Amino acid sequence: MQDCIFCRIVRKEVPAEIVYEDEQVMVFKDIQPAAPVHLLLIPKKHIPTFFDLTEDDVSLIGHVQLVAGRVARQLNLEEKGFRLVSNCKEDAGQLVFHIHYHLLGGRTLQWPPG
Ligand code: 5GP
Repeated sequence: MQDCIFCRIVRKEVPAEIVYEDEQVMVFKDIQPAAPVHLLLIPKKHIPTFFDLTEDDVSLIGHVQLVAGRVARQLNLEEKGFRLVSNCKEDAGQLVFHIHYHLLGGRTLQWPPG
């Protein structure tokens, strides 16, 4: 997608603090962190929302979640843990319509979110 900000980050047209990248997935720091650790995990493939996923994306989404645990372990979050959340569409607060997970950690998080 030409105008998608996360696709532009994937293409390195827009700078981001990338902490992990492979063929399918990119992980970078959120520009407005809500916790000491606040990363965004995205499939490189442009998929706007969970409603747009197909069977072909099952292993891709599974891979994103596998990477979440690996990256969190590298950031020493294994003992205390982390939160992995994704906002789907307007009422949930989705602002960027390219599927992403927020990985939040480094402090005690409240539940439920707002
Ligand atoms: P959403 O509200 O869609 O779940 O989350 C979008 C997230 O993307 C927000 O937390 C926002 O701070 C982050 N974000 C938006 N634009 C950029 C950007 O250009 N670079 C980075 N690193 N994060 C961004």
